[in-house]
Amino acid sequence: AAPASSHGFTADVARLLQLMAHSVYSERDVFLRELVANAADACEKLRHEALSDGALAEKAGAPLVTIALDKEKRLLTVTDNGVGMDRDELVSALGTIANSGTRAFLDKLGSEKGENLGQSLIGQFGVGFYSVFMVADKVEVATRRAGSEQAWLWTSEGKGTYTIEAAASEDAPAVGTRVTLHLNAESDEFLESWRVERVLKEHSGAIAIPIDLLGAPGEEPRRITDGQALWTKPKSEITPEEYTDFYHQLSGQFDEPALTIHWRAEGRTEYTVLAFIPGARPLDLFDPLRRSRAKLYVRRVLISKEIDLLPAWLRFVRLVVDSADIPLNVSREMAQNSPLIAQIGKAITTRIAQEISKLAENEPEKFAQVWKNFGAVLKEGLHEDPSRRDEIFKIARFASTNAPEPTRTLKDYVADLRENQTAVYYLLGDDRKRLASSPQLEEFRARGVEVLLLDDPVDAFWVTSCVGYDGKPFKSVTQGAADLSQVPLKEGETAPEAPESAGEVAALVTRLKETLKEHVEDVRLSTRLRDSAVCLIAPEHGLDRRLAKLLAEHGE
Ligand code: ADP
Repeated sequence: AAPASSHGFTADVARLLQLMAHSVYSERDVFLRELVANAADACEKLRHEALSDGALAEKAGAPLVTIALDKEKRLLTVTDNGVGMDRDELVSALGTIANSGTRAFLDKLGSEKGENLGQSLIGQFGVGFYSVFMVADKVEVATRRAGSEQAWLWTSEGKGTYTIEAAASEDAPAVGTRVTLHLNAESDEFLESWRVERVLKEHSGAIAIPIDLLGAPGEEPRRITDGQALWTKPKSEITPEEYTDFYHQLSGQFDEPALTIHWRAEGRTEYTVLAFIPGARPLDLFDPLRRSRAKLYVRRVLISKEIDLLPAWLRFVRLVVDSADIPLNVSREMAQNSPLIAQIGKAITTRIAQEISKLAENEPEKFAQVWKNFGAVLKEGLHEDPSRRDEIFKIARFASTNAPEPTRTLKDYVADLRENQTAVYYLLGDDRKRLASSPQLEEFRARGVEVLLLDDPVDAFWVTSCVGYDGKPFKSVTQGAADLSQVPLKEGETAPEAPESAGEVAALVTRLKETLKEHVEDVRLSTRLRDSAVCLIAPEHGLDRRLAKLLAEHGE
């Protein structure tokens, strides 16, 4: 046989390994979750490939993940009868960073100081296969790609290099992959079957493939989870913990979901959806490549892990869709372009938007957290998805001169319009507390006119692309002269006094224009100020100051 070839890990893997070696003790459990997730994925991939090649399925038998412990040899193995890997796949999957979540994790570390943070984040994010080096000082992966006779053995001590060699047939599973961990001296606990069982139940309880545990060589395997897909069960039979576990599996995030939505659509097309709004922001929320990751199943066969089902403004939602109405042999690409899928995606979008509005109405405190995490993303839809504007306006909450926190809807705003007020006024900036003390607002306050304080970058875009709300145009208070003279003053307020000497004012204005020259377009006597001496405004028909600044930052 050919000799083993030795390979170096890519630099980013080396960095991750370094981090794993210094992981905090309490985070170590996650290695098992990662291995089981990979094993289950491999089973699902095989199930999918077997659709077009019946012989593959027959050979593999029912999908199963088996964990076996051997105290004497200090081994923990995870075996699956999934799709396996060939030599090239081994190199790219276990020598580089294949996973986008892991990449985002590393990027995040790069932007924060110290690796301490990384250690505390390991448990919170899916860090993938390399987490095995938290508990093992040597790892072997024996694998055979479905449809091939040749088995391969990948070996590494997690110290910068790994080797690959052809394996004797009997040294690898007949179908699939076996990962063998030589546990390190600090990891005795993972040789105890009660301990491993607890970790499995806690982290992998909702996985859609059955899991067996063999406590010691020669022992009978014990079934830990039945692998019944959670979404196929009736809601009444699912506990909140099971939903949460499932969300953890699905998202690779380990917070409590803020909202769980599970329903079966019946009618022209039938499908089941289980969707979650995360309780925390995913790391890659603003990554331009981040898509709305939906898992698409057809009668429990995973067709695609990352189908683009929802619009970008719902990209934080994690979901599973299972439909019997989609042909089983559909390819990923075909699924992505299928009109049926597009139609299902639209219906799901409508439902999720409804559920979020309901949450906003009924549980404002819970909703406030969702809005804090994802409001800026939802508002992208106002700009990019005009057909959904009304639905998003129902959800959207704004801070204003009447509300320090974003709790006002446009409906509230319009209901409280002042006499003769004809527009929805807003002020853009990057910090709503600072906005609240802007001199631009003095005249509005005196007349009791509410002004929305918009401090997300996306706000500059939708206020210009949405013409208005309920027939009232959106108007920037920093743009042009807002004419409020028709709106009555609040009690106790008086109109600003006319300047005593018009001549002196004119001279001052001329003087300012001469001094400021091309830095300003015009200098005018203002009626909007009460306590402050000056403020900057944008020309009536030009860009709002905030938008102009944002565009300038992006070099446009
Ligand atoms: P992720 O699974 O999130 O992509 P990992 O680091 O856990 O990232 O794994 C990297 C890749 O290695 C997987 O995407 C998969 O292609 C491959 N892999 C890992 N374990 C297995 C397995 N048991 N069977 C088949 N392929 C596997």
